[in-house]
Amino acid sequence: MNTSIFVLDVQKLNAYYGSAQAVFGLNLQLQAGQAVVLQGANGAGKSTTLKALMGLVTRRADRLIIAGQDARALVPEHIADLGVGYVPEDRRIFTRLTVQENLQLALRRVPAPRWGVDGVLTVMPHLKPLLGRTGAQLSGGEQRMVAVGRALMREPALLLLDEPCEGVAPKVADAIADALQAALKQGAAIVLSESHVGFSQRLGARVLGLHAGAAV
Ligand code: ATP
Repeated sequence: MNTSIFVLDVQKLNAYYGSAQAVFGLNLQLQAGQAVVLQGANGAGKSTTLKALMGLVTRRADRLIIAGQDARALVPEHIADLGVGYVPEDRRIFTRLTVQENLQLALRRVPAPRWGVDGVLTVMPHLKPLLGRTGAQLSGGEQRMVAVGRALMREPALLLLDEPCEGVAPKVADAIADALQAALKQGAAIVLSESHVGFSQRLGARVLGLHAGAAV
């Protein structure tokens, strides 16, 4: 039974690329509806922290509880099944598939989608006119919106986003912020790395500053 009040409860998270350690002893606790923004210079460890939470790099932790489950030994696919949505920095949109197909792909292995395409379009109306276009026919900003929308499709308990607004026009950043606010309201917890000034305030997020892989 999940008795923890935290969607994400991390103690002493360490992450490694081979023998090189990139994240050192991070602690992080988030309840439903709360957000934290990772900030730091290039190479500070923001992406690696998100990858470590998703199980994409080697990591060790004294505690790594996601949605009430010990996630320390879980592979990314099983972490996703706990209700974790991950938006990597490079978006990974399928360029030959339409926006609609890209969104629907998120629902593989999910019997009863909660948000679904309609729910995502409600919070991201900018995607509506793009549904029939292929990924290759989208701008970088539009691809980012699709990547965020795809992560929302499964109504994640925890959303991990790596620089979702990097290089996008203010209008796209606004659309992404609106969608994330809606997700928070519905009870998602969010960890994101973002250098846009004001983004953390907009989401009411705490800021976790990183330097050389450690909290500052
Ligand atoms: P940026 O803002 O530039 O994306 P970041 O804060 O996300 O930076 P990370 O990408 O997490 O930083 O990098 C943290 C450290 O891990 C850096 O020293 C980086 O050189 C190293 N690193 C990142 N990816 C790899 C990799 N695939 N192999 C080895 N070391 C890596």
